Amino acid sequence: MKIAKVVVDVPASQTDKIFDYIIPEHLDSYIEVGMRVIVPFGPRTIMGYIIGMSDESNVKKLKPIKDLMDISPVLTPELIELGKWVADYTLSFYISAFQAMLPQALKATYHKSIERLADQFEDDQLNKLFDGRDEIDTQELLDVGFDMNRIKKAEDLGELKIVYHVGRKETYKKVSMIKRQMTEVEIDQYRAELSNRAKKRKEIVDYVAQLDEPITFKQLLNEMHTTRQTVQPLIQDGVVNIFEQEIYRNPNGNKQFEKTFPLPLADQQKQALTPIVDDLNRQRNNVYVLHGVTGSGKTEVYLQSIERAMQLGKEAIVLVPEISLTPQMVNRFKGRFGDEVAVMHSALSKGERFDEWRKVQNQEVKVVVGARSAIFAPFQNIGLIIIDEEHESSYKQEDHPRYHVKDVAIKRAETHMCPVILGSATPTLETYARAQKNVYQLLEMPDRMNQASMPEIHIADMREELHAGNRSMFSTMLVDKIRERIDRGEQVVLFLNRRGYSTFVMCRDCGEVKTCPHCAISLTYHQKHHLLKCHYCQHQEKMPSECPSCQSDSIRYFGTGTQKVEQAIEAVIPEAKVIRMDVDTTRRKGAHEKLLAQFQNKQANILLGTQMIAKGLDFPDVTLVGVLAADSLLNLPDFRSSERTFQLLTQVSGRAGRHELKGEVVIQTYSPEHYSIEYAKQYDYSGFFKKEMSLRKAFQYPPYFFMTLITVSHENPIRAEEVTRVITQLLEKHLSENSKLLGPTPSPLEKIKDRYRFQCMIKYKYEPEQKQVLKRILSYYEPMIQKEGLQIQIDLQPYQLM
Ligand code: ADP
Ligand code: ZN
Ligand code: ZN
Repeated sequence: MKIAKVVVDVPASQTDKIFDYIIPEHLDSYIEVGMRVIVPFGPRTIMGYIIGMSDESNVKKLKPIKDLMDISPVLTPELIELGKWVADYTLSFYISAFQAMLPQALKATYHKSIERLADQFEDDQLNKLFDGRDEIDTQELLDVGFDMNRIKKAEDLGELKIVYHVGRKETYKKVSMIKRQMTEVEIDQYRAELSNRAKKRKEIVDYVAQLDEPITFKQLLNEMHTTRQTVQPLIQDGVVNIFEQEIYRNPNGNKQFEKTFPLPLADQQKQALTPIVDDLNRQRNNVYVLHGVTGSGKTEVYLQSIERAMQLGKEAIVLVPEISLTPQMVNRFKGRFGDEVAVMHSALSKGERFDEWRKVQNQEVKVVVGARSAIFAPFQNIGLIIIDEEHESSYKQEDHPRYHVKDVAIKRAETHMCPVILGSATPTLETYARAQKNVYQLLEMPDRMNQASMPEIHIADMREELHAGNRSMFSTMLVDKIRERIDRGEQVVLFLNRRGYSTFVMCRDCGEVKTCPHCAISLTYHQKHHLLKCHYCQHQEKMPSECPSCQSDSIRYFGTGTQKVEQAIEAVIPEAKVIRMDVDTTRRKGAHEKLLAQFQNKQANILLGTQMIAKGLDFPDVTLVGVLAADSLLNLPDFRSSERTFQLLTQVSGRAGRHELKGEVVIQTYSPEHYSIEYAKQYDYSGFFKKEMSLRKAFQYPPYFFMTLITVSHENPIRAEEVTRVITQLLEKHLSENSKLLGPTPSPLEKIKDRYRFQCMIKYKYEPEQKQVLKRILSYYEPMIQKEGLQIQIDLQPYQLM
């Protein structure tokens, strides 16, 4: 007997295992590991993935597989192993891991119908509803508000049964093709028999006579300036044959990519490329940290490494952050490698994404450029994996399974024995620390190409502005420089940190920010009890009425939104034309591109926006970048806030003066002496790294310690807190003494969608039992998760501590 090992599409603790099914004889010769199948599961019918086969099973009563959903596997053997590994390392279900690896279009759809078993129903309304039919969709019952208990009753009487259907979402785009069917001799004869008046038809016959390859029906109609009806007789008479052919959707339209060729490399690029090429040649698995300032030519190093991998007959995966996956970026890869490139990102439709994925599956491309999930591209012979802007927090998936792309990349590279390149101007501390310890190999590119200099960074001290009587949100320096740009017809980018999250308390006179004495993160203001609380530990204190360091009474909580800033600019500089880009103005599809195009066409002098404008944008006339309130970044209640500030300031500075015109940057802040700001001003990554590492060590944060964040949410705050407390106690009991437990505390974002959130955190160096303990806790709470809507999120090595 042949047995298939199946992971079923039911994300829950009890079903998170591998089920055995009999492979029926009629499917035996088609079935392969990695295919989707339809299987019976309790009373239902659901989708599952075959992840293995066997000749025996320990289970007595096995059911057979109902049907296959694929004709070729959607998961390769490598991806099946990888999926299991992802599930294990993120503590998620197998099914969630597999589904994260495949395009959305391959998810199954489910619906139920009701099949008649009896000629007559006792319930007369059912007779009316069925109206003589043998089967109806349950949706019909729901639409008319039919009481499902009556269905249950009829089912108990044996009058009907509920049938479960598994459907597919994936669709294939097809076009009609025309092919010559007669031989040339036959065609000559056919033509001779046509009446003289059928002039158009003769022309078409002449045209198809010289066709050796099929062409699209549309092309025939276009070239012959004719209609379907005119061609129809030729199809009927068998001159040509019409058939359907599957094609890929083309997200790029008819766009032509201008071919580019490898540039002669600068010395720093050669030095970076050499060891990578060496590894490629010898199939060695190393992780490289390519630390290069913005504009140092990292992309050219990527391109030439990929070229080498392709020469060796291998494939490459290039990951870029979603937000910087701009047409400019895509052009650089398409321009060099043309049709060998598939592009995967969320701006594509589901169908387009499915088609790009199939190009990889069908081995029709050699390179994938994509956002996070492209790391799972089903290549079978990977030669190189590149992660550009490796410090980006979007590389961490914030939903089940909570994987970090870097971990998956390194895992796949080990399997394929190939190098990984982590590129960034501001690598994360975790990455750079590993490079310093030679776990990763460091490649430095300190210079900008073509001798372009980095823009000069000015710091505007907002405390002094206040002392000088300027109560607006703009420093005199920034206003002067904006006016200058408007006069010269140049452009300005103004950056404000993400709206809505600004609850720290700061003294406007001296810049003092209240922080937790134990955790070194800023305290959060709670209006209700007029308290300042730490979100990591349980520390809290009264909101002071005057600044503890300068006794000023200008101590208050801080924050403003983009809309207010827009109004303020218009008040101060009435001649300015502003484009505002934030979540509100970019909600509609395509709005993002439209606003950028308007700015590009110089319909505005100022682009004002949140995080989303910090990356990737490249406008030749932008010569001034202003950061309105560096403090709101610096004081997020997150131990990475200094690192994020440094990264962001470096990145926004890279936006100014990328071309002939020289750029300048103005950073407004109440704490100009903060090391993140000082080192960013000097473009001193290694100075920043040393300073930040010493603080991470002192406060026991990554990379010195590992972290796990457990977030519990519930509609009832008391329940959420209680569960968090019990979990904390359980962890205390089961984890080693060297680990530190913080919490329970309210989460920094205390309430999301009417659910109250509490959290606790584990800081540890070595905790081999941790996952087992956490798994036990999860399965203990499983019934409550199912029944009362309790949620428990476990994030191993969290990036968002909100
Ligand atoms: P990064 O990716 O490090 O920000 P880019 O790859 O965008 O840097 O390079 C910056 C600019 O320098 C680009 O316009 C690129 O075309 C150019 N460039 C890169 N390498 C070379 C080279 N070897 N010779 C000439 N120009 C180069
Ligand atoms: Zn003060
Ligand atoms: Zn604290």
